[in-house]
Amino acid sequence: MKNDVVMSGMRPTGRLHMGNMMGALTNWVKLQDDYDCFFVVVDWHALTTGYQNTEDLKENIRQMVIDWISVGLDPKKCNIFVQSHVKQHAELHLLLSMITPLSWLERCPTYKEQLKQLESREINTYGFLGYPVLMATDILIYKANKVPVGKDQEAHIELSREISRRFNYIYKPVFPEPEALYTEFKVLPGIDGRKMSKSYDNYIEISAGPEVIKQKVKMMITDPARIRKNDPGHPDICNVYAFYTAFDEQNNIQELKEACEKGQIGCVECKKKLANLIINKMQPIHQKRKELEQNPKTIDDILDNGAKRARLVAEKTLEEVRNAMKI
Ligand code: SF4
Repeated sequence: MKNDVVMSGMRPTGRLHMGNMMGALTNWVKLQDDYDCFFVVVDWHALTTGYQNTEDLKENIRQMVIDWISVGLDPKKCNIFVQSHVKQHAELHLLLSMITPLSWLERCPTYKEQLKQLESREINTYGFLGYPVLMATDILIYKANKVPVGKDQEAHIELSREISRRFNYIYKPVFPEPEALYTEFKVLPGIDGRKMSKSYDNYIEISAGPEVIKQKVKMMITDPARIRKNDPGHPDICNVYAFYTAFDEQNNIQELKEACEKGQIGCVECKKKLANLIINKMQPIHQKRKELEQNPKTIDDILDNGAKRARLVAEKTLEEVRNAMKI
């Protein structure tokens, strides 16, 4: 029996990259053994900034969930579903909107920042301002008390706590106060050394085949001071080395570090070894991916069953909410 409830979501951005895999996804795979987990594809959140481009939404959901399962999320251990398949989120979002002061939303650090950054998308909308309430809804509807987040998302958890407190104070205690669950995970840089991101075009997709992996590894930036093979290298500033530390499970990393520092291995050879390491690590994931792609019904069933289970929990919370509010 798992006592603590974890909720976490991802916007449906389509195929995920290896940075997502080494970060949030690997963390989720670990959490599913210890917590009652709700992992949600937050498609309504995608609309808050991308309401004008919805044609790829369904396929993006499918591809992302294929990545989730291929990397190791197990629908027998956790709840996997799509936010818009559980309409109770909409009802609770509306009810919580009624009690959330505007000033709480306007002071959200990401609100003004994103309004500027995404100016061309015309997101000065009611929905975008209210997205932290939707986020609080996603958490509170499952009475999640743990939310895995990075330090930069702390403000959103705090807002969920404030909304929970305000509801419990005005009506009666229904919701727990969710806590941030900070976990250590590996940060994989992009092939150019910046944060791996689709917007920088510096990523390797989880689904990338051997040839693409080889090609992307070839493009990786290494120690710029290293011109000849026997020049002493500085692995700590090398992108290839950063990938080794994430992918090497055989603990050969010390050996490689020394060989680089002593100028005993060339970057071309080093990159070839890394590409093989990544290809081997990804092989079972690609195999699983292929099976899921060949059987589209499997993903449909996983999402249907996940939504059914989520609806039961969400409806139970909604009954308590309606009772507390006397509606
Ligand atoms: Fe980087 Fe490997 Fe070249 Fe050293 S040998 S600089 S770790 S690519």
